Parts: sequence; C-alpha cells; structure tokens
Amino acid sequence: MIIHPTISDLAGLDLQCRCGRRHQIPIRHIITGEGALDRLPEAAVEFAGKHALVVGDSHTWPLAGDRALELLESAGVNVTKYVFARREHYVTDEYAIGELLVAMPAQTDLIVTVGSGTMNDVSRAVAVRCRIPWIIIGTAPSMDGYASSTSAIIVGPEKRSVPLGSPYGIIMDPRLLVTAPDEMLSAGICDVLGKYVTLADWRLAAREGREHYCEVIAEMIETAVRRCQAGSNDVLSRDPAAIGDMTETLVMAGGAISMFGTSRPCAGSEHQLAHVWEVAALRNGGPGPLHGNFVGLGTIASILLYGASGEAYGFKDLSDALPEAAVIQEIIDRAGGWATKEKLGIDRTLFEQSFVHAARTNPRYTILTYLDERGCLDTYAKQVTEMLYGC
Ligand SMILES: [Zn+2]
Ligand SMILES: [Zn+2]
Repeated sequence: MIIHPTISDLAGLDLQCRCGRRHQIPIRHIITGEGALDRLPEAAVEFAGKHALVVGDSHTWPLAGDRALELLESAGVNVTKYVFARREHYVTDEYAIGELLVAMPAQTDLIVTVGSGTMNDVSRAVAVRCRIPWIIIGTAPSMDGYASSTSAIIVGPEKRSVPLGSPYGIIMDPRLLVTAPDEMLSAGICDVLGKYVTLADWRLAAREGREHYCEVIAEMIETAVRRCQAGSNDVLSRDPAAIGDMTETLVMAGGAISMFGTSRPCAGSEHQLAHVWEVAALRNGGPGPLHGNFVGLGTIASILLYGASGEAYGFKDLSDALPEAAVIQEIIDRAGGWATKEKLGIDRTLFEQSFVHAARTNPRYTILTYLDERGCLDTYAKQVTEMLYGC
C-alpha cells in the first residue's frame, strides 16, 4: 500500500486514503528524465493508425514540435499540426480556446501539445471538453499545471480555476526544460514556494471545519517543496538535477490537484492575490508577467499577513511554520527579481485593495476569508501594505 506517493507512483494511482477518501490519478503515462521526449511513441502506442493534432505556439514549436511530429509518424500515428501564430503572446482565455477548437480537424483522436502555461491550459480545456485524450510535452518548469485536473482560465473580468480533467500523458525532458528563460525558472520556483502558504491556508480551513483535509497529500507536497527549495540556487545555474527536482515537484503538485479533485492542495491566498494582479496586468494591455512570479509576491504578502494576525487570532503555530518573508524575498532576488512589485507593476492602491477583493470574489476559504469574516481584513491589508510600500 502506498503511504507516501512519489513521482513514480503517480501514473494510474488509486489510493484508498486514511483521510477517508479515495484518490485517483487517471494519467496513464508520466515520462520524465533525460531523453523523455524520445519516448513519446511509448505514450502514443495506442494511437497507431489514428489521428493526432500536434499543437504549439511560435515560441514552443521550434523547441520540440517537428521532433514530436517525426516521433508520432514513426509510431504509425497520422499527424496534423497547428501552431498558434495570430498573436505574439497568447493568454488562457475564451478566444484562445475557441481558436484551437475551430482549428481542430473533426477526426482527432489525440491532442499532443508542446508548451507550458498557456498552451497547457488551452489544450486541456479543448481536449477535456471534447473528450479527446491529450499528451503534454512540457517546455518550461514554470508552473504546476501539467498533471493538474484544473485550468486557470480568464473568463470576462476574473481568472478562475475551472475543473476539467487530467492529461493522458506527460513528457518532461530536462533537455528542453533547461533552455527555459530565467523569467520562467523564477516563475516555477515561486509557484513551488507558494505551496507553504497554500498548506497553511488548507490547515486553517480544516480547523474551521470548512474543508476536507488530507495529510497524505499535504505531506507529499511539503516534502517535495522542501527538497526543491534546498536546490533553488542550482535551478538558477541550470543544473539539470536541480531542474529535474523542480520539475518533479511541479508535476507532483499537479498530481495532488488530480488526487484531490480541486486545486485546494496547491492554491491558497497567495494564488487568490496573484489572480487579482494577473487580471489587472492584462487589463493594462497584457500579456504581463508570468503567473508564477505573481504567486511569488502573493507568497510574501500572505506570509506577512499570517505574521501580523496569527497571534491575535490563535493560529500563530501556522504562522510560525511558514518560512520568513525575508527568506522567500532572498530567493526571489537571487532568481533575478522577477517577482517584485516593481517588476510586476503593482501599485500601492491595487496591492492594498486586492486582499478584500480576492476574499470576496474567490470562494476558496483561506486566511483572507477568515480575516474578512471577522471584519479586520482591510486593517491587516493596510499593515502589510505599509510593510512593503512604506508608511
Ligand atoms: Zn500556480
Ligand atoms: Zn487522503
């Protein structure tokens, strides 16, 4: 029986958990490590004689698009390609999803996507809604959505986590991932570090009787995040082992979402704040900085919020278990400073207002909800703002 799932346990995991729930991951193939891309035919073997649509954008296609076509053809799969090229930068919104839906041939038995954040989320939305199996070939360790069953989609004025479904296969080859730009590596590190806050929020929600909590999933994430934090310096020097560790952590985090069924184990108040800022950046003419870097600033904001309110409200233990904001700030600075309020373009007013806005527009129970229900969130938001922007 699996007590502490590792990456090799994830594909096809079916666990009757001591938390009382059954956790399943319907992903059939998770192929990681050097040369993973060359093993694409293993994941596509059931599609010989069938039709695959291979998708990428103008940034991701040159990394592995042609190689993916070649490998699928060698496995006897009929291939069509679609490269998103109408815009320089795409975001995960209704328009990009519609574009792929229109471009997809009627006879499509498999979608294979080369990409990371946006391409991953757009493909998931189309594949899952059309009930077509889908394989993602990751090009950057920049976010945790690869093994996830949800996508963060911009719908009108908000960014929402939409439950969809898991991929059929995931291929993460360090040879591709080490070529990711610094901004994407920084985003990956920040999306990982944000899990410290997520877990505190989840534990707070469980204590308040507002959420089911699973210690197996929480420990799986915590262990992976600690290992990844320890190697964060080496990620920035593009050490393949450290990039491999970070990639595994991101895949495990996504796997935890699939296991739990919602993004609860991987997105707390740091993500709620990040989503408010991401949407504001898009309104200012987007595409704006990467998701993970917003999460980096959200992590610092939430840690400061826990520190300011923990003692008064009886959750100092949760606050004490978090890393210090200065420690996270140091990692962000070393990673090139992509996750700072200046770089992300977040002014003082937006920052201060985002706490209450996030609490009231995002239904997930976090420290923001807890403090808002007690009528003191705006007071603490002001305090945290003064800590970061000065009095
Ligand atoms: Zn995230
Ligand atoms: Zn459980």
